[in-house]
Amino acid sequence: MTKKKRKSPIGNLLLTYSKRSLASKQDIYTWDEEPYCDHLEDIGSFTDNKKKKERVFSNREKCLLGVLLALLVLLIAAVAYLLYMLLQNMNKPKGFFCLEPHCVEESAMVIKKMDLKAEPCKDFYQFSCGRHLKELIVSPGVAKYGILQGIGGHNFAILRRELATPGHVFKGKNSSAIAKAKMIYQSCLDEVTIEEKGGRPLLKVIESIGSWNISTDPEGGRLDPDKWDLTEALINAHKLGPNPLFGFGISADDKDSEKNIMMFVHAGLSLKHGEMYTNKKTAAKLKKGWLNYVVKLAVLLGAKEDDARQQLEDVWEFETELAKIDERAPSRGNTFERYNKWPLKNLTAIMPSINIKKYVEDMLLGQKVSPDTPVLVYDPGYLIEMSKIVANTSKQVLANYIVNQINQKFAPYLSLNFRIASLELEKVVRGTRSTPSRSGFCTSIANKMAGWATGAMFADKNFEKGHFDKANKMLDGIKEQMRLTLEEADWMDNQTRTIALEKLAALRRMIGYPDFIKDPAKLDKYYEKLVVTDDDFVSNMLLVQKFNLDRIVARFGKPVDRSEWHMKPAKVNAYYSASCNLMAFPSGILQPPVYGPKFPMAFNFGSMGAIMGHELSHGFDDHGKEYDKDGNLRNWWTAESLKNFRKKSECLQKQYSEYTVYGEHVNGENTIGENIADNGGVRLAYNAYQSWLVSHRDTILPGLNKTSEQLFFLGWGQTWCTYYKEEYARHLLYSDPHSPAKYRVNGPLANFPKFAEAYTCPLGTHMNPKKKCVLWGKSECPSGGEGCQKKTQSKRGGFLDWLELDAYDHTDDQRSRENTLDWLD
Ligand SMILES: [Zn+2]
Repeated sequence: MTKKKRKSPIGNLLLTYSKRSLASKQDIYTWDEEPYCDHLEDIGSFTDNKKKKERVFSNREKCLLGVLLALLVLLIAAVAYLLYMLLQNMNKPKGFFCLEPHCVEESAMVIKKMDLKAEPCKDFYQFSCGRHLKELIVSPGVAKYGILQGIGGHNFAILRRELATPGHVFKGKNSSAIAKAKMIYQSCLDEVTIEEKGGRPLLKVIESIGSWNISTDPEGGRLDPDKWDLTEALINAHKLGPNPLFGFGISADDKDSEKNIMMFVHAGLSLKHGEMYTNKKTAAKLKKGWLNYVVKLAVLLGAKEDDARQQLEDVWEFETELAKIDERAPSRGNTFERYNKWPLKNLTAIMPSINIKKYVEDMLLGQKVSPDTPVLVYDPGYLIEMSKIVANTSKQVLANYIVNQINQKFAPYLSLNFRIASLELEKVVRGTRSTPSRSGFCTSIANKMAGWATGAMFADKNFEKGHFDKANKMLDGIKEQMRLTLEEADWMDNQTRTIALEKLAALRRMIGYPDFIKDPAKLDKYYEKLVVTDDDFVSNMLLVQKFNLDRIVARFGKPVDRSEWHMKPAKVNAYYSASCNLMAFPSGILQPPVYGPKFPMAFNFGSMGAIMGHELSHGFDDHGKEYDKDGNLRNWWTAESLKNFRKKSECLQKQYSEYTVYGEHVNGENTIGENIADNGGVRLAYNAYQSWLVSHRDTILPGLNKTSEQLFFLGWGQTWCTYYKEEYARHLLYSDPHSPAKYRVNGPLANFPKFAEAYTCPLGTHMNPKKKCVLWGKSECPSGGEGCQKKTQSKRGGFLDWLELDAYDHTDDQRSRENTLDWLD
């Protein structure tokens, strides 16, 4: 963006006024000329001579007095008007008023979400999102619908159109990768074939992995305990995607981040979270929903209902035992304790019921490994306990447990009655009572299974040149603010600070999508070994699974590819990778309404900027802080700095634990990482925006009557306008590491005096409590957890600062004095 040296419309207004004043002065001078006095004299000419003698003032004196009086009145009026304008301008947005259609649209987009009757100092989330949430119409199949899900819907609409378009020309060339994505989509849409096949594709899969003890169907078989082998069953199941008993993968070694290593991780449950089995308030309801679901699947595969229910109830009991291990020894917590690098043979010792060497060699597709090959074992305590439970469990239950996980994985790919069965569980967990539209589901499948090909189509059609430029520069500014934050953090000693600054300097970013997807030849090469058809959906799913497994296995023995993206281009999300010290923002999220190259930067920073700050803060949250600049797990914190970090962290934990949803408390401990990131993100983005303002003028939207600072916070508030079904909101309280949307908005703002300042919230109101928790972000309250009793002075908040800025507009001198960066030009 080139520097704009135009005066702002306000500036122009003032200029116009000033011109009028000058013009008025000209008029006064005109009146002071002889004709005026002559006129008075002319009036005086009507008086008689006697009266003339009684006169105290001469005509000339009268004339001068009149002029002086007029001047005085005009002067008072001018001063009063100037004061009025000064007061008006103190509360008016400053920048370029924009009446272009895109600004009117943007303004309408913001206003129509707001509840203008709500008090921003009481509940800013309601103020930002109230009308949107009240008027939102959500389909019965949706459990959660937020602004980001809305962008996802937009992305899917583009993908659906592209996937449905015949042909596979990409950038002027026939692309086999695009053809494969379209074949997956078409095979998914082919409901006639899918209905005709019913459950047969799944029965074949069950047979191939060693059967179970429930189905009476000849293909599904009944278990022969003498032939059934746990290791074989696990290998087959893990290759298909589910993770019974434990998870296996190949990824960066936490303490040697450039090398890939095999890892065994805590897994094994059908439901996402252990608490779903053990929570006394909810477990009975979940068990009922889950049993109804999995029994229906079994019956559809040919089982007798009573037999299936009895045997699957045993599976629930088995999974509950696994969940209880989690309760006894939580996997969360100290990453250093969770990290265990062992020779493979040690795993054999703790899991005697599984042939680990055979398991590993088979998962590595035949590659031989020695018993001394290093493997990472997270939570060995879980594996030890799990192994004991397995030793005391019958083969029938184990086989049923494994096959049931396969059933749950494949049911969505089968005929309608299998998909409807899932609603038995969905209505309990998410409160939804219908399945998604077929085309929507198939678009999501194609994007999941061939996401670089669909992403290539998405990116090619959706972004103009330079779309990500502003995003990159915003990130520069946010990173710079983190540097200042670290420099200023008085609770950190210099030793820790130096390493933190090194880590920040080394932090890398990826924005948009990988380059290879722009090149049809490279894209085709990526999917070269994937073979799919357009008429066999389940086979396609199996082939994609095999393709992905091959790619993961190919990592073994090779260095970590640090350029690899872990999110596809159309994904509406972002991430921070601790082992790569890298943050990534896929193109899918860099769109309206959270980001737009023409949006006011106040909104861009408040929305997308705070998301960027969020990801950056993850590098320094409770987990990220344990990794160094190279992505290695290493304690680089001195005891004193760590103690202070924990103290500040505890303040946030306590704050969020007091928030409630439907009478239930948010888990401040489980959400701490995300809350640190939200709090840091908003502050970093705000400070980056203020720094940007030093050398730029922002766009002012019509009709909003909000200052840029107020718009910044609306940007944050409106990023999280989210509808939840009650069941799902309750469920997320223990399964989601993020706080509920309302508190993602209000929590960080209540801790941030700049918010209270922008909305003039008196101290002691909901959004400006006396006690504030500050971790990352320039601290206005150096004492940390205690509140800011005094209103802080904004460097640029008042009118005089603005005038001063005018005087220094765009000078290099100002840049260096304010320590701003040369970015966003
Ligand atoms: Zn996060």
